[in-house]
Amino acid sequence: MGGKPIISLAELRKQAIYRLREVYSLSESESIIRALFSHFIPEWPKVWLASSGQAPFPEELLPRWENAIARLLRHEPLAYIIGEVAFGSIRLEITPGVFIPRPETEEWAYRLRQMLSKSPPKTILDIGTGSGALAIFFAKEFPYSMVYAIDKSPKAVNLARKNAFLNSCSIRVEQVTFGASPLPTYFPHKWDLIVCNPPYVPWINYAETGLNVRLYEPPDAIFCSGLSLYEKLAEMATKHLSPGGIIAAELFPPDAEAVASLWEAYGLHTALYKDSQERLRWIEAKIRHLSPP
Ligand code: GLN
Repeated sequence: MGGKPIISLAELRKQAIYRLREVYSLSESESIIRALFSHFIPEWPKVWLASSGQAPFPEELLPRWENAIARLLRHEPLAYIIGEVAFGSIRLEITPGVFIPRPETEEWAYRLRQMLSKSPPKTILDIGTGSGALAIFFAKEFPYSMVYAIDKSPKAVNLARKNAFLNSCSIRVEQVTFGASPLPTYFPHKWDLIVCNPPYVPWINYAETGLNVRLYEPPDAIFCSGLSLYEKLAEMATKHLSPGGIIAAELFPPDAEAVASLWEAYGLHTALYKDSQERLRWIEAKIRHLSPP
């Protein structure tokens, strides 16, 4: 009598999946539960195996578990609830107010790493670094590169610096609004690699965007009007890419061809790449060297 009934891991999982199914697909719900278990009980796979799921969920964690489920049912992204996300081989702390790195960007980072592995870039600039994902990823993958990053948001700059520290890598991150103010004077003037995952979802597509994004993520890291950022990137590339240097950016698939023509008009030699969903998602470019007549 009295007190809360003890609930097993298996029963808690079953109830939570049933509730999450209101908002998420079955496979999403299952992977959310795995992530939540790992967050609350890091050693849960062992405990589960040893007890066939019948071990009790620690009672003192139940209120926090309940709170997490309630937030998920309000469409809050899992990354903000557990406060972290995996990006390739690194883990990043994530706080509300900062863009959550996406799996497609991770896919792109690996593609770039593969392409650059024979001659790693010596200087790398990440424009709009957010939590620091791309900058830290490349700093880890190319330990001899000098990696710099900027973001307009002070929250992002602080978080990227913290994530660099947590991942034991030294990158320089400064608060700069790209295109509106110059880079710090101590940054290199020529770059072997410039990467950017800019806000690229057109505001007219706002209503089609998921509630998790619309209600919780910083809109100015997601939405844009027009291609002016890509224009500024092209301008930057023509002035500040080193010979043979590469500029690469993520983009909104329906805008891919338009961004490519824009960059070509700036004298860049461009290539577009598809993501695993077969959508044109990335542009990469070098300065076009005209062959002599
Ligand atoms: N791919 C992200 C989304 O659809 C947007 C990323 C971005 O704007 N850079 O939510």
